[in-house]
Amino acid sequence: MNFPLMPPEYLREAEDIPSFWVTDLRDIAAWLACHVSRGEIREIGRSAGGRPIPMVVYGQPRQSGRTTTFSGSIGARKLAASFGPEADKRVYLAMGGVHASEYEGIMGLVNLVSVLETGSDLRGKAWPELAELGRQIDRILVIPVVNVDGRARIPQRMFPHRGSDSTVYQCWGTGAWADGTNIGWPQCKEFIPLDFARTMCPGGYPNDAGVNIQHDDFLSPSRQPETEALLRLCAEERPDLIVNLHTGAPGNNYFCRMHRPFIEPALDPVFDRLYAAVHGGLARAGLQSTRDEALEGDPTKAPRGVYNLDTALNLHCGALPALIESPCHGFSGKDRAGNEVYPHPDSLLDQQLVCHREALRFLLETGGRCTWTPEGK
Ligand SMILES: [Zn+2]
Repeated sequence: MNFPLMPPEYLREAEDIPSFWVTDLRDIAAWLACHVSRGEIREIGRSAGGRPIPMVVYGQPRQSGRTTTFSGSIGARKLAASFGPEADKRVYLAMGGVHASEYEGIMGLVNLVSVLETGSDLRGKAWPELAELGRQIDRILVIPVVNVDGRARIPQRMFPHRGSDSTVYQCWGTGAWADGTNIGWPQCKEFIPLDFARTMCPGGYPNDAGVNIQHDDFLSPSRQPETEALLRLCAEERPDLIVNLHTGAPGNNYFCRMHRPFIEPALDPVFDRLYAAVHGGLARAGLQSTRDEALEGDPTKAPRGVYNLDTALNLHCGALPALIESPCHGFSGKDRAGNEVYPHPDSLLDQQLVCHREALRFLLETGGRCTWTPEGK
């Protein structure tokens, strides 16, 4: 896609891109083809633009043999009836690039695959506990980029850092109108599908049909093929925990931040424990504003999400979804004390992998969906 109205500065790419920063669709496909041997590469479906959506899978799936729908199992107060005879298995789904300009989660997932394959990330840094968790969890599903149409639209592998100015980055995220003004967030959500003819650049949020998958028309027969692929995958695999990786950490507390999903109320206390586990782990690793686990891991401070893809997946299959917003490599923010936080790519990768490590440990130690609430068995 060309952007004839776009200022050349907007197309500039970062210099000295680290070798672990793999975010381009072709680079990801080439890397996976060369390095995935423990896992298996699958295609979960095709995008609105006809592009394949690759996934890497590890372990054995739950056997089929469920006797009812998820809704039926809640009604029967017997969740295991919709999870099947292997309800006790633990299944983790991690997905990135629902918003395609949000590279941190994409880069983190490629590095997660590297750890699951070799024990080390693409810098050569060992993650022994994460690798061990990867062996202990029964099934792991990794989708580096859900919105492959959006990702194919953006030419840069990495954006230049532009101080505290996010104007250019926002153009690649939520798009800009034909006169060059950014559509902006959350205003972009007023236009689904977005009419690309009205834009200088539609950004990386929509697929080729103009739809922001995070806010698709989930209950409509006209829902998008990316959504359909995720719904089909979740019906087959019955994940316990879904981590949906985005970029958009709060500017005044510029570290990874998990959002409270709008889901079944029964899962709210489970989310509280997950939030405390992930943010506590990040704080211990020096990857939050402070090292105070109680402060950083206080779930009452979690930003509250609205009805979106995470809600739809929860109500579809019972999984606990957690959306994590990373800081962006393209601009700086502030910590709790008001000091500048420069989003160094190394720190961004560490934050991603610590999130996966803590989420996987939480899943292993707490047992999964059918043990989380009283009606599980
Ligand atoms: Zn996002």
